[in-house]
Amino acid sequence: MNGQNEKNKDSTPTKTYLPEKVSEYIERCTECNRCMEVCPVTKDTFSINELNLASQEGHIVPLKIKEFAFHCVQCGKCVPVCPEDIRRDYMVRYIKYKIKSKKPLGYKRYLFIKGPKLTGMRRITQQLFIRLKKLTNKDLSCFMETTPGKKADVLFYPGCYIYSTKTVRQTLRLLNHLGGSYNVLGGVTSCCGAPHLLQGEFDQADDCTERLYQKIKICDPQIILTACAECFETIEQIIKKYRMDVEILSVAQYLLRYQDKFPSKKIRRKITVHDSCRFHAQSPQGIAAREVVSLFGELAESPRDQPSSCCYQWNHDSDPDNALRQANYLAVVKKKAPTLACNCFTCYEELKKTYTDVEVIDVLQLFEEALEASDTIEEER
Ligand code: SF4
Ligand code: SF4
Repeated sequence: MNGQNEKNKDSTPTKTYLPEKVSEYIERCTECNRCMEVCPVTKDTFSINELNLASQEGHIVPLKIKEFAFHCVQCGKCVPVCPEDIRRDYMVRYIKYKIKSKKPLGYKRYLFIKGPKLTGMRRITQQLFIRLKKLTNKDLSCFMETTPGKKADVLFYPGCYIYSTKTVRQTLRLLNHLGGSYNVLGGVTSCCGAPHLLQGEFDQADDCTERLYQKIKICDPQIILTACAECFETIEQIIKKYRMDVEILSVAQYLLRYQDKFPSKKIRRKITVHDSCRFHAQSPQGIAAREVVSLFGELAESPRDQPSSCCYQWNHDSDPDNALRQANYLAVVKKKAPTLACNCFTCYEELKKTYTDVEVIDVLQLFEEALEASDTIEEER
């Protein structure tokens, strides 16, 4: 994890805290340009000096930098290369905040119904959406938009992705297979706030995070599970900020603790792992994803020659070059393996939309396939 959502320990609102950090960063910046050299979305239409000026409180944001800020996927690749320990991703996030009223349609659409305190048309649309989803997914409706009343040691937190029902059903089947009790906290009113934070909607992000903390407190778990890297990072920050005595794990990390409950049989050939910007290769989540692949298949080397393994989800299709970048990435993947296993739910959802002959799977799918394969063998006996 690289602390994308790192925030002050106290309760200073992000809109107050961040401009202060950005001012410090501008003073320290030597304009060496290393951050932009590794940035996967910049088109080099401006200088670092112009970018720094646009990042200052009260300074106008020129059109070419507005465009760049909306293309920025908040991947954080600009951070480790900075010799001055500056968070360029935060600086661009602050530009996003300054120009938030001019967001492209893709951003508006994505954020429209996410959050606990919506009003007016957003609230009406949110309620209609929830009703429809509950009607069409009766088996999951009891988990949608409710805070569990009973206590359980494990809290599975899908947040907004509860509506990506295939992944949620798959996770529930795997948790049921393990046999212990667990709670589920999911829905757009339990959004972690990362979608807002990454797009400069700081008030909404702070509201979401505060509400999520209150809900987690009610559930009082010992372990929180999620397959989304953005949710994971936000919960990590909540745990740190409120000094909670809770462990946060990716679903794959958790299942690996019980690997003796799954058949140890290779069911797949070569698979390569897609490392998300936040669950990177050396993180415990990246290592866990590789362990899962090695358990059930043959782990192929990841395509390191690519400038970025970013899924390009977080600019919400505002950059027309996304499709080409994704296709180029998957073409390189194909030389390594026919299948790409994602360890972050967001990357899985984004990359599976790409037209390609590379099979894009969620790493959790391998646990389920292993169980199905063993059931088939049992039936045949
Ligand atoms: S790498 Fe760091 S010091 Fe160099 S231009 Fe970027 S932010 Fe400034
Ligand atoms: S966060 Fe990623 S996309 Fe945004 S400026 Fe940094 S490297 Fe570029």
